[in-house]
Amino acid sequence: MSHVFPRHCHSDLPRAASGDGCYLIDQTGKRYFDGSGGAAVSCLGHSNARVTQAIKDQADQLAFAHTGFFTTDPAEELADMLIAEAPGDLDRVYFVSGGSEAVEAAIKLARQYHIENGQPKRRHLIARRQSYHGNTLGALAAGGNAWRRAQFSPLLIDVSHISPCYEYAERHDDETLAAYGARAAQELEDEILRLGPDQVMAFLAEPVVGATLGAVPAVEGYFARIREICDRYGVLLILDEVMCGMGRTGHMFACDADGIAPDILCIAKGLGAGYQPIGAMLCTRGIYDAVASGTGFFQHGHTYLGHPIATAAARAVLQEMKDNALIPRVRQIGATFEAALQSHFGQHAHVGDIRGRGLFWGIELVAERETRIPFDPAHRVANRLKKAAFNEGLICYPMPGTRDGKVGDHLLLAPPFIMTEPQIDEVTSKLGRALDCVLSPKSA
Ligand code: PMP
Repeated sequence: MSHVFPRHCHSDLPRAASGDGCYLIDQTGKRYFDGSGGAAVSCLGHSNARVTQAIKDQADQLAFAHTGFFTTDPAEELADMLIAEAPGDLDRVYFVSGGSEAVEAAIKLARQYHIENGQPKRRHLIARRQSYHGNTLGALAAGGNAWRRAQFSPLLIDVSHISPCYEYAERHDDETLAAYGARAAQELEDEILRLGPDQVMAFLAEPVVGATLGAVPAVEGYFARIREICDRYGVLLILDEVMCGMGRTGHMFACDADGIAPDILCIAKGLGAGYQPIGAMLCTRGIYDAVASGTGFFQHGHTYLGHPIATAAARAVLQEMKDNALIPRVRQIGATFEAALQSHFGQHAHVGDIRGRGLFWGIELVAERETRIPFDPAHRVANRLKKAAFNEGLICYPMPGTRDGKVGDHLLLAPPFIMTEPQIDEVTSKLGRALDCVLSPKSA
């Protein structure tokens, strides 16, 4: 009997025994192609020698030093590497242990910044529906996923939620992309004005929505307009790139493709590539200086901030990406992957949309292509597909549709950056068999 409290009670999971490049291997020796990198985590695959060596070396040298007393070489060097790549004026890095912690830190820093800046009334956060920002209470409050929030809603801070920029489901037939983007962004200005601009501290969004919509980028111009609105009203822009950052979309940061920079940026997953639990919050010099010249102390902290082994692992991850030009590779192999997904599944009777960037792709599953009507969530289509694909030896991340029928079931694909062209064929044929098994044209 297992004494581990699993995510799904009553589940009977195989034991992952080892990793080999893009594959996970269970205790029976069965190999699974990691088509979603867990949940967009394992960007370097599972047996990267440089990263594992860096972890061993750091553990031998120094396993832990509390950030109340010391900084360390790996933390300093990793921060320098991130800032060298970061967009806009991002200039300081706060290391945490994962995505939720990065988002919690961002929300608290936004609030503290306004207090230090003499605007203590600014306490409202605006985020978007169908978003996911983590499972701790602040991050959960920010997220707009009704199912995840439901039981905990009495515990959550009040956050306004505007519509996501979700062209497939929300653009009107007679609307241009630009007009749709402007309409979606206008909701932010309307909400700021409704709350009162002097009450709003920040707007939080994922540039490419991962876990709740399945790799949905905004339409061109949307984020430029969002940036303008935030600037006009002194509202901080926090971008959550926990899933879509760190090269996943073919740019180091997803917002690079939108041509904007946030005031605060959250990253995690690909930063440690699964080798160590690590996340980070990056902020501008202006925000840092307000705190430094005010109370001089960010009123936040965790024991494992800037953990030496985690920062050493992430430093090796970034070095590996750089030395092997993995981000240009994501763009190149990502284009081949997209073409393969489109040619195999683009015309499938139950595939409504294939969208994404780089090596970050979502497949939206619908009961009817023409009307875009989602499956009844009771049919658990995404979960059944996950199971069928898993049986085939392919890991893909399922996301169930919402009960209100606004978002359909979808699958997320986020394979390692080292994926090869023959492996693209492996993914499409395994996924094709899984689709045939769960959604044969007869089941239409
Ligand atoms: N933000 C986003 C966009 C995420 O996708 C996730 C994780 N799926 C989180 C935050 C939370 O990260 P973690 O699970 O590491 O706490």
